[in-house]
Amino acid sequence: CGMVAIVGRPNVGKSTLLNRLLGQKVSITSRKPQTTRHRIMGIHTEGDSQVVFIDTPGLHMEEKRAINRLMNRAAASSIADVCMVIFVVDGLSWTADDEMVLNKLRRGADERKTILAVNKVDHIKDKEALFPHLQELAQKFPFDDIVPISAKSGTNVGKLMSLARQSLPESVHFFP
Ligand code: GDP
Repeated sequence: CGMVAIVGRPNVGKSTLLNRLLGQKVSITSRKPQTTRHRIMGIHTEGDSQVVFIDTPGLHMEEKRAINRLMNRAAASSIADVCMVIFVVDGLSWTADDEMVLNKLRRGADERKTILAVNKVDHIKDKEALFPHLQELAQKFPFDDIVPISAKSGTNVGKLMSLARQSLPESVHFFP
């Protein structure tokens, strides 16, 4: 295990966050490498350790169509391997799609950390109003951490990165 999955419905800011997390230390992003189980979005290398970020397309999809069920199953088995999930939501809205993603995260949740990243806080003028919302979200799932972030301006993204590093073994040589 040396992997972190970034999950969430479309448009919550997953790609923006990933770019922030990787910063200048991008090893792979443009080639979009794909293993049999994982779509690797990027690798953050620091000294001896690496954090591999994976994408799980399909996790937010309704399951009426067979192709969606298939993608969803692939996403679920991909998530089964990670040590940490960063569940990204938009701080301004909670939708039925968010609920759907969260419900899919429940399975196997004991085996990994689940961090809730409440994004776009730069857009929230009344910061006080955020707290009741965070408390509400905290009731939905036993998150290991809830971190308000701004992927756009970088607020608290360092905190997420250090949580990701803590969730990994001392040294991960993922691609020897
Ligand atoms: P994804 O579909 O989850 O990968 O979302 P994207 O990273 O493509 O972002 C969707 C939209 O939200 C884009 O227009 C981003 O510029 C915007 N966005 C992402 N993060 C933030 C943020 O922290 N603050 C604000 N205000 N906008 C953001």
